[in-house]
Amino acid sequence: MQAQQVLKEVFGYSEFRHSQEQVINDLLQGTDAFVLMPTGGGKSLCYQIPSLILDGVGIVVSPLIALMQDQVDALTQLGVRAAFLNSSMLVGEQRDVEAALLAGELDLLYIAPERLLTAASLDLMAQVKIALFAIDEAHCVSQWGHDFRPEYQKLKILAEHYPGIPRIALTATADGRTREEIIEQLGLQQASVYVNSFDRPNIRYTINETGSNARTQLWNFLQTNHPDDAGIIYCLSRKKVEATADWLAAKGCVALPYHAGLHRDVRQKNQMRFLREEGVIIVATIAFGMGIDKPDVRFVAHMSLPKNIESYYQETGRAGRDGEAANAWMNYSLHDVISLQQMLENSSGSELFKQITRQKLQSLLGLCELASCRRQTLLAYFGEKMAKPCGNCDNCLFPPETRDVTEEAQKALSCVYRTGQRFGVVYLINVLHGKIEDRIISNGHDKVSTWGIGTDLTQAEWRSLFRQLIAESYLQVDLEYGVFKLTEKARSLLRGEASLIARVHKAPEKKKKSIKGKSTLRSFDAELREELRLLRTQLAEEQGVPAFVIFHDSVLDAMARQRPVSREAFAELSGVGQHKLAKYADIFTDVIKQHPLPEALQNSLSDTVNESLALFMQHNSIEEVAVKRELKQDTIYSHLAEAIATGQLGREEVISLGASDVATIEMTANQLEITAGENLGELYRELDEEWGYGILKCVLAGAG
Ligand code: ADP
Ligand code: ZN
Repeated sequence: MQAQQVLKEVFGYSEFRHSQEQVINDLLQGTDAFVLMPTGGGKSLCYQIPSLILDGVGIVVSPLIALMQDQVDALTQLGVRAAFLNSSMLVGEQRDVEAALLAGELDLLYIAPERLLTAASLDLMAQVKIALFAIDEAHCVSQWGHDFRPEYQKLKILAEHYPGIPRIALTATADGRTREEIIEQLGLQQASVYVNSFDRPNIRYTINETGSNARTQLWNFLQTNHPDDAGIIYCLSRKKVEATADWLAAKGCVALPYHAGLHRDVRQKNQMRFLREEGVIIVATIAFGMGIDKPDVRFVAHMSLPKNIESYYQETGRAGRDGEAANAWMNYSLHDVISLQQMLENSSGSELFKQITRQKLQSLLGLCELASCRRQTLLAYFGEKMAKPCGNCDNCLFPPETRDVTEEAQKALSCVYRTGQRFGVVYLINVLHGKIEDRIISNGHDKVSTWGIGTDLTQAEWRSLFRQLIAESYLQVDLEYGVFKLTEKARSLLRGEASLIARVHKAPEKKKKSIKGKSTLRSFDAELREELRLLRTQLAEEQGVPAFVIFHDSVLDAMARQRPVSREAFAELSGVGQHKLAKYADIFTDVIKQHPLPEALQNSLSDTVNESLALFMQHNSIEEVAVKRELKQDTIYSHLAEAIATGQLGREEVISLGASDVATIEMTANQLEITAGENLGELYRELDEEWGYGILKCVLAGAG
């Protein structure tokens, strides 16, 4: 069987992504491969397809024991013969798997590295035909990484024990040093190396500054964008995790806490519910996430700053693995900046370590305070150039205002200086605001030149400015008391040799603005989509598997939209291979048959036209349609004009003009030799602007 054929028949996809095809060809020809691909890029297919084509079983080394069950479930749904071996299994279960392996009945076997390296396993492997070795999460080999696992370094022996068998190492970790280590440690010097772009185009990045209303901002974000979605909310402390989860639960969300202080059973149960149920929110410290490859996490929210850009990218990367639109949303405050700097200075690391950490924190702050495209900066951090702004981050979508704040910055810095570099932000703002307080008076700071020179900015604006000054390294936070000190760089700004351009601090949006990415779902498909989702839930429960292994959300979306009622049409859906076709086509098409698309909506008109048409056909007036769609009435008329032109609607159904008015319009258009589809400006003016463009379009569309 050819790779392309397996892709279609087993997985139900019609095209390869990224470098999948080349990687697969390498393995089929016996060449080793090293693949760097972002999360959700499709690494698994790179070894799954060759394992199906080559003789023997593909051995997948993975540290993620908790996930093996889901991976095997997903493969079983595709009709692939897969199993796993790890320490969580009963002896009897292990024996069954080993028997299947020896009988040559497995295409894929997942195994934890420590398990693979036991004498018993190596002995077992020696008795079976092996198609390939896949080493997943290969960065675990790196001592410098966050996921170091000593047993990974021993995997080098695979090269010695099984010289002729191709090996593939895969990771989503980008940095160059780790890359070299993997090649060295795993003996992959001969491997073809595939480095794919690390961009995650479906993730929308948003970074907000927050005042005292972090919760309100979070709530607005959830309500507007993700009322029923699964997501992860990261908080800095366990206490905050608990409080946030309780608060969300009280508001009616299914929100579960996850942190290292919880009992192991509770943690496992919460993680399981997150994976299995739909629409569960996990509130967690960063302890949560390693090995979460739930594909339909629709958002990751940070309630405070992550540690550095690497962590930010990894944590946000857990959103949208299925390639569908997802949000990475962060809220951070001056307080976060100060506490991270304090933590850093207080840490016991070497001076070199602190210096690196400090630089990383500064890069992160730079990203947060940025006024231009977030994605460009993120990717540039990982050494990747992106030619154009992305159009899918907050700064691209809602460009922030910037202004020159050099003068205010000078006031702030000199206030730090005049008060002896011994105070924190609250005190400094009080001095700038000219407050009369015991402490200020006893320190004699009501006499310094900066006392009261800052009344033109609010407290929030000063905080925002101080944060920017830290981000740009003009100020440094002292270790013990959160005291601000000037840096060497501050001098240039104070002397007027440098200037500071900053984002204008804005009061948080009152009006809710949706930042949800484009959905392919049309409103008139929503009812069927919900029916299909319920069916999926029921099937998942019957089989004891997560809903997403039956079908991903995107497949349900496509189903609701295309409404296939035959097996042939069902097979066209991306993500439906032969096994799922046989297993599910009839059950799903039965539901679809009960929801036929109204004939008038079976057309080649655009989605927006059909949205208007659908509402209009549900007996809404033009005015009501306009209100519902938040569009002008004239636009609705224009939409309906298109439906008139293609014969979906009669002109009389839409416009209620008298015969003489219609005749006048038609005659004038004739005289001007204007027909439907042309620019109607002249006609509009000739008729003394009595009728809007939309109405004119309707009249002409139905003329003749
Ligand atoms: P990774 O391991 O790189 O994070 P996965 O292998 O889990 O990513 O793939 C992510 C998602 O993309 C999965 O749902 C997978 O089925 C899907 N996918 C992978 N390759 C393709 C492809 N060529 N066409 C369509 N979908 C694909
Ligand atoms: Zn952008």
